[in-house]
Amino acid sequence: MSGIRGIVGKGFTPEYVTTYAGAFGVFSKRKKIVVGRDSRRSGEMLKNAVIAGLLSVGCEVVDLGIVPTPTILMNVKELKAQGGIAITASHNPSEWNALKIINKDGEFLSEEENKKLEEILNSDFERVRWSDIKDVQNDDNGIERHIEKIFRLKKINFELIKKKRFKVVIDCVNGASYFAYPYFLRKLGCDVIELFCEDTGDFRRNPEPVPENLKALESLVKETGADIGFATDADGDRLSIVSDEGKAIGEEYTITLGMDYWFSKVKGEGVVNTSTTSMVDFVAKKYGTIVHRAKVGEANVVKKMKEVNAVIGGEGNGGVILPEIHYTRDAMVGMVLILSLLAEKGKKFSEIIKDLPKLYMIKKTKHFDNLKERDEFYKKLFEVYSKDAELTDGIKVFYDEGWLHLRKSGTEPIIRFICEGNDEEWVLKKIKDAMEI
Ligand code: MG
Repeated sequence: MSGIRGIVGKGFTPEYVTTYAGAFGVFSKRKKIVVGRDSRRSGEMLKNAVIAGLLSVGCEVVDLGIVPTPTILMNVKELKAQGGIAITASHNPSEWNALKIINKDGEFLSEEENKKLEEILNSDFERVRWSDIKDVQNDDNGIERHIEKIFRLKKINFELIKKKRFKVVIDCVNGASYFAYPYFLRKLGCDVIELFCEDTGDFRRNPEPVPENLKALESLVKETGADIGFATDADGDRLSIVSDEGKAIGEEYTITLGMDYWFSKVKGEGVVNTSTTSMVDFVAKKYGTIVHRAKVGEANVVKKMKEVNAVIGGEGNGGVILPEIHYTRDAMVGMVLILSLLAEKGKKFSEIIKDLPKLYMIKKTKHFDNLKERDEFYKKLFEVYSKDAELTDGIKVFYDEGWLHLRKSGTEPIIRFICEGNDEEWVLKKIKDAMEI
């Protein structure tokens, strides 16, 4: 991911953020930049630091306020800006914050663009004089523009969704989408029950929308007899589902079901990352198409999508990318695909997922004290597992029963272990063996 992140007050300071934003302003030819943030307590302080940096080099600033990250990416393009900055630490806890940096195409910076930005950051770039300082424009229409674009999707059955009047519980973790997502669901005619939909930035659960963090949503779906429950992370790009039976089914289902719907309407191929569930291959086969694999990371998936001209893409962590809207993970796009599928199938959600192969996936992370220790452990893994493995992104080993993917993080002293198969015990054993090698 492009940009910078850190723990607020511990190295991640307004001074640093102002300098970084200034460098990005120079990178963006000192033109118009769109800014938005999530609801974190540090958000207002850091937004002001970002704006100060941008103004200091002569940029004009459009401030969207508290909005989902995909809304910021979309508005960069819609407003014909030269770039954007999303102030959010995504699924990380409250003490973190970060800047996600967006180019003029409304996409996260590529590696090359990042390098160029770093060069400017390390140079002595020039500030403008007082009379060349531009304005800040507060713009409350960012969400509306985003939603309008989604409503122009021709392959979504909006009338049928509205007719169904689905009862939906939405859990926004009091994050960036606290307003946008309930509002969007109401526009789809849903009977919306809100959970953690305030702009307090007080994350009442861990912001990562994985099953163990969605207990409150599970209970509320059950209690209210809702048709479905949706959960997102603190910046609204990842989407996770709770079934009508009140069960968090895991994020892998989001892209799987999204593809199931989209492939039934649009001819073309898909792209996911190496760690994503094999359910997507099952779905693609139904429609006589294929799903390509890219390295983990949104930028890699997007790059591959463009290469193969994919009609849909995403990641198993709940990210759905629809090029017809934009090349970024977008939870509203995910929701509308799932609701259109639900409406057309005319079955309960728990019935729909029974048509998919029953696979078990386990994701584990092993933490190390430092990068050296991690790399030593990884070397051992490599010795044991790399034979006959696919090595384009970490080590991916295929077995008759499923697959095992071992990957070290680019920045942190951690290794990720992901295993999927049709037998739960086999999966548990594979993961355990690898972690305790
Ligand atoms: Mg996120």
